[in-house]
Amino acid sequence: MSAIEAIPVTVTRKAGNGCVDAPVLKERGQREVFCGLTGIIWLHRKIQDAFFLIVGSRTCAHLMQSAAGVMIFAEPRFGTAIIDERDLAGISDANAELDRVVAQLLARRPDIRLLFLVGSCPSEVIKLDLSRAAARLGQSFAPKVRVLNYSGSGIETTFTQGEDACLASMVPSLPPELPSSAASLLVVGALADVVEDQFRRLFSALGIGPVTFLPPRSAMRLPPVGPNTRYLLAQPFLADTARALEERGAVRLAAPFPLGVEGTTAWLQAAAQAWNIDPAHFEAVTAAGRERATRATAHYRQQLAGKRIFFFPDSQLELPLARFLSREMDMSLVEVGTPFLHRQHLAEELALLPEGTVLSEGQHVENQLDRCREANPDLVVCGLGLANPLEAEGMTTKWSIELVFTPIQGYDQAGDLAELFARPLVRRMRLVA
Ligand code: SF4
Repeated sequence: MSAIEAIPVTVTRKAGNGCVDAPVLKERGQREVFCGLTGIIWLHRKIQDAFFLIVGSRTCAHLMQSAAGVMIFAEPRFGTAIIDERDLAGISDANAELDRVVAQLLARRPDIRLLFLVGSCPSEVIKLDLSRAAARLGQSFAPKVRVLNYSGSGIETTFTQGEDACLASMVPSLPPELPSSAASLLVVGALADVVEDQFRRLFSALGIGPVTFLPPRSAMRLPPVGPNTRYLLAQPFLADTARALEERGAVRLAAPFPLGVEGTTAWLQAAAQAWNIDPAHFEAVTAAGRERATRATAHYRQQLAGKRIFFFPDSQLELPLARFLSREMDMSLVEVGTPFLHRQHLAEELALLPEGTVLSEGQHVENQLDRCREANPDLVVCGLGLANPLEAEGMTTKWSIELVFTPIQGYDQAGDLAELFARPLVRRMRLVA
């Protein structure tokens, strides 16, 4: 049997329902997560003619500057309009000030075609009605510049929900599909351009199309949407965007997320089944990718197999990552925490998790730290705020935010994905040796 034949095309479930009906520990308490403004760091790279104007405080400006400091060397595609105590004097003044800042920005940057006003959590900002401001400014600068708004406030969002809020704000302005349109596929969720190109080639080779992506690379190429749109989520944190697309008639193709060989295959297969693609053709088109990914991950499986991993809730990527690490890397799952568990969007992932996995939703950071210390796992996946103290206690950690910044989806990134988990373990071994 060749290496390619040895890789199953279909997702094989062990007997039972995985974790579909598993109890979930619901926790409410202090959280340790970044706010939704963080999403701007990857979104501004994706939509190249957009600009993200944060309406916020100096704290927001500092967060963005330190998190994305590298941008000071380039013409940035985000900035902060700082609303401070002085502006509390009168809301009309704050609105006039915002209009002035936007007019100045658009005069200086004629390349901007889509402007997001991004709300934050200071009380001064909450008092401003940004949706009205977006409508007012949208009228002033139409048709050249579209103005949308969403909230990245830490009160309402964790860091990946900023992307959800951003994409959901775009959905009402997507053009309708033509009445005679054949079925089209919309891939939803920001992917690195290199990953997007790989998927585009695979869909084309499979005979699936037309294929569009949300977010698009340019605001001038917004994907059409309507009842003939079938959409695949590329990220697990897009509940509001999915709801908005379904209100426009689009239909979700249920699938696990495209992480690892198995997840990528099942994700592609969901589209292939909707397009009635011959299974033999699917096998032929995906064989080389599956083989490359299996070879690339084999080396890391040796380092990861048998190791015990603990996930703090942070990115909402936790369940798909846990599925990949347990089924393809033979890791043992101690606890899988997630900020929110969307049972419908994650049904296929839950079914693939080993029965008995401890799942938790929400956060009570002190309780979870106690459980983590008691379990003493080999590797902890957590936010930046927890990583340093845990490292100081002798634990090995992986920053969950890195998994959002790094291209990890698809066959050709499966090796990089495995390496992200193997690297801290190898580093710790070297330190100990
Ligand atoms: S939006 Fe709120 S949580 Fe985020 S940086 Fe600004 S003040 Fe901090």
